[in-house]
Amino acid sequence: MTYGYDVCVVGLGPAGMAVSIMASEMGLRVLGIEKRSLGGECMSVGCIPSKALLRMGHARHAFDRLETLALDGGSLPRPAEPFRKIAGHIQYIHDKKTTAMFAKVDLKLREGAASFVDPHTVEVGGRCYTAKRIFICTGTKPYVPPISGIDGVDYLTNENLFSLNEIPRSMVIIGGGAIGSEMAQAISRLGCKATIVHADSHLLPHGDSEAGQLLEAVFAGEGIAVHNDRTINRIDREDETIVVETDQGERLVGQKLLVAAGRKYDFAELKLENAGVDYDRRGIKVDRHLRTSQRHIYAPGDCNGSFLFTHAAMHQGMIALMNAMMPGPLGLDYRKYVVPWTVFTEPQIAHVGMLERDLKAKGTPYEVIEEAYENYGAAIAEGIAIGSVRAYASKTGRIYGARIIGEGAGEMIGEWGLAIQNRLRMHRIMFLQHSFPTMSFLTKRVSERWMMNRMKSRLLRRLIRFMV
Ligand SMILES: Cc1cc2nc3c(=O)[nH]c(=O)nc-3n(C[C@H](O)[C@H](O)[C@H](O)COP(=O)(O)OP(=O)(O)OC[C@H]3O[C@@H](n4cnc5c(N)ncnc54)[C@H](O)[C@@H]3O)c2cc1C
Repeated sequence: MTYGYDVCVVGLGPAGMAVSIMASEMGLRVLGIEKRSLGGECMSVGCIPSKALLRMGHARHAFDRLETLALDGGSLPRPAEPFRKIAGHIQYIHDKKTTAMFAKVDLKLREGAASFVDPHTVEVGGRCYTAKRIFICTGTKPYVPPISGIDGVDYLTNENLFSLNEIPRSMVIIGGGAIGSEMAQAISRLGCKATIVHADSHLLPHGDSEAGQLLEAVFAGEGIAVHNDRTINRIDREDETIVVETDQGERLVGQKLLVAAGRKYDFAELKLENAGVDYDRRGIKVDRHLRTSQRHIYAPGDCNGSFLFTHAAMHQGMIALMNAMMPGPLGLDYRKYVVPWTVFTEPQIAHVGMLERDLKAKGTPYEVIEEAYENYGAAIAEGIAIGSVRAYASKTGRIYGARIIGEGAGEMIGEWGLAIQNRLRMHRIMFLQHSFPTMSFLTKRVSERWMMNRMKSRLLRRLIRFMV
């Protein structure tokens, strides 16, 4: 059979962009289909606008601190139309940067949702296209829990939050994960009274409890109310206010309600049945090579439910494309690559590898090595009070995981990821010089502390004394 295209990519978010741009650069005939806008959720209603809003919030907070310290800060006006400003930046990135990357891709943009006709044929905009290999990169949608009364109020999700005209006076946020926490701090710092309510026992439930509790303490200091361990009984609109009633009898009120309660998978439009692609409520089923139940159809990115991060989606896109070109046994196993993740609150919180609770659950013996920012001269001098670099390692220096809280955490976690992925041991970090006085110098300090711990061995001490 001859196919119209070598590669068809459905959905052009981070995963689909990685596949289609790389494939077209390799000289393959690529069809890219996107029902909304290039860059996917990340670009238009996810990472990029949320981080831009946070940056505005952090700047505002820094300025407020200057004023409190009675430094000559002058008076900073409230940000005028922050969402419009962010939309302008996104439009610029789209027009001037992203579109050019697709120069060699045959694009079907905003012609509707693609659906499968058969395992090699996809239909969009009333026309059918065939391809030898097909990549499903359709991501997820916001999950809205079926709470009594929720459909009677105009709730926000990440899909319409960034289309507001102004920062609301007050907002209740359902969800204490990364998105809920980031957005709470951003809008709070921009003058909104933020209240988080969620079912977990601490913020950022996918991370460790200590980091979540530290963030709660920071939030309390900034006037953000956090209600853990709550079930929501009912949601109502009363005049201009939305009222969220919890199982503890509270009535949490806000001008707006943001639902950030997780993600859902919805493949109705794709008609996966026509292609024989298996899925369940946790996403499209893939093997270690990111292949679906059809050998020529791959599903990298959020749609397979494994790691819901942009960098993971891009990485999986790359791996899936490489696997499509390699015979089965030589294929790359996407699960072998570590996935760091960062929450961009202030302080930032970043993890890679195993958490302490994972190590405990597995019964793996480990040592905790930690260096706090408060003991580091550079951090003290720069007024950075909160933070630490922490690693979990074996006695022989095998690194199981790392957690960084504080300024630069998202930048610094990459080094630990590289070490874990490549099985580099602690002494390899110790012998790498780190620029001083950066916060990453604390990474080296952690490795030095690990080495000092080894020196506590009486045998080693005797040996050293003998050799001196
Ligand atoms: C508020 C928010 C903040 C976030 N912040 C971060 C962050 O800081 N760092 C991070 O790593 N991750 C972050 N994420 C997660 C990140 O956005 C996702 O992990 C990432 O976008 C997933 O990429 P993807 O390509 O798999 O899917 P998406 O980005 O969801 O792209 C899927 C694309 O497929 C299109 N599509 C769907 N169905 C069809 C169809 N039938 N036909 C044609 N097109 C279709 C959609 O329109 C969409 O453009 C954030 C998410 C949110 C909501």
